[in-house]
Amino acid sequence: MTRIQNYINGTYVGPVNGHFIDNYNPATGKVYSEIPDSTREDVDHAFKAAESAFSKWSTTPYTERSRILARLADLIGKNLDRLAEAESIDNGKPISLAKAVDIPRAESNIRFFSTAIMHFHSEAHIMEDRAVNYTNRKPIGVVGCISPWNLPLYLFTWKIAPAIAAGNTVVAKPSEVTPMTAYLLGELCTEAGLPPGVLNIVHGSGPNTGQSIVDHPGIKAISFTGGTATGAAIAASAAPKFKKLSLELGGKNPNIIFADCDFDDMLNTTVRSSFANQGQICLCGSRIFIERPIYEKFRDAFVEKVKRMRIGHPQNPDTRFGALVSKGHLEKVLSYVELAKEEGGTVLCGGERYLPEDEEIKGGYYMHPTVIEGLSYACRTNQEEIFGPVVTLMPFDSEEEVLSMANSVDYGLAATVWTRDLSRAHRVAAALESGIVWINCWLVRDLRTPFGGVKSSGVGREGGFEALRFFTEAQNVCIQLKS
Ligand code: NAP
Repeated sequence: MTRIQNYINGTYVGPVNGHFIDNYNPATGKVYSEIPDSTREDVDHAFKAAESAFSKWSTTPYTERSRILARLADLIGKNLDRLAEAESIDNGKPISLAKAVDIPRAESNIRFFSTAIMHFHSEAHIMEDRAVNYTNRKPIGVVGCISPWNLPLYLFTWKIAPAIAAGNTVVAKPSEVTPMTAYLLGELCTEAGLPPGVLNIVHGSGPNTGQSIVDHPGIKAISFTGGTATGAAIAASAAPKFKKLSLELGGKNPNIIFADCDFDDMLNTTVRSSFANQGQICLCGSRIFIERPIYEKFRDAFVEKVKRMRIGHPQNPDTRFGALVSKGHLEKVLSYVELAKEEGGTVLCGGERYLPEDEEIKGGYYMHPTVIEGLSYACRTNQEEIFGPVVTLMPFDSEEEVLSMANSVDYGLAATVWTRDLSRAHRVAAALESGIVWINCWLVRDLRTPFGGVKSSGVGREGGFEALRFFTEAQNVCIQLKS
């Protein structure tokens, strides 16, 4: 059984207290590795390593930082198969998805910021003949990065890459539920020539290890992706210490389908945007609003397609629908199906746990993809984040009505709009309370664009220069001009 270690100062080390936590394989429900149950002391060791590495790393020429990150990106690409297999075992996601999306995107994240830092620039403000101001964007120091379990290496690298590229040193914590690929990344960092202490990876639970990162007096900024309740708790701890905060939180995304859309394209994409990664992507659409004239046509075609989705062993290359990440999460998602029934919903397909016949994966955390209709937009099922393979269908009659239903939730991360009417597409996009709007597509990503949500979906933006701005402090230097 693999015993995962912390990666501190370029070396793998165990937790100071010697305690480990079980790590489950969601496909089988069995423990297959152990992770350090790190405490404040481990976080402090990681901090000290990061602090001593900072002065050298922050003054390393950006061209050299860029070269090291490019080597790391190459190594992730070279280890695609191994990392994809590890991700699939740890998370329960189909290996085909890990190979096509998770690991290639982790490579792209690192490569993107290795080049972005070469083009990062700051401003100058010239006061005619009186003075010149320029903005000096300085790395912050030691920063904390905390990431969730749904896209483990993908979201971990999305944070650490801009932090390191900008000249900071990092104490990072992946989710305790999916620690494996972050663990493997350590050895690739060493091979790429990342100096010891620049990236330190500490494993453990949120309330223990994660909170110790948030509370550490020397860690000056926190970049967090995860649930809204956790984000609120982190903000409450970090705000009185005046730490810089970036919060990427939960969602309850609307998918708005007008009758004039390209039906086949919309249908295929909507199956994907509902159930990719078993619905465990913060950008999945979970509330599907359909214009009334095509409601029944859509419902029947959609349910037919969803019923044909085959659940299987995540490591089987043909599987497209794997296991949910944990027993607790499966139970939470199933409890929402019960709530939907109590609220008057009709389950059109799914709604239950899937019990495989295959002896090897009998104890895994599987669930049928689930479609529900007949619920009010205002009920709890349609207001709270479920974050699993459960979507609801609701008809609408006008643009005004669908916008008020779509915007009725506390969240505002992403939305999808399907229409051939260009004017309507722009109008609806502008009226949606959402950080990201996809028109006639879903999850098309350009890493230069601002990424993030409004309302309870977060504070701040990641992506492109926005991330490099977050991971730097702007200092204005004003020089008087004497004649
Ligand atoms: P979570 O429970 O909030 O955990 C996220 C991370 O925070 C994990 O590493 C967790 O550690 C850690 N953590 C928990 N409590 C903490 C504390 N008090 N202090 C510091 N760290 C703490 O979220 P999750 O269940 O892993 O992820 C699912 C959520 O993430 C969903 O709400 C989803 O919408 C959201 N998400 C948002 C985005 C986005 O870009 N907006 C992207 C992906 C996911 P443990 O794992 O050890 O508990």
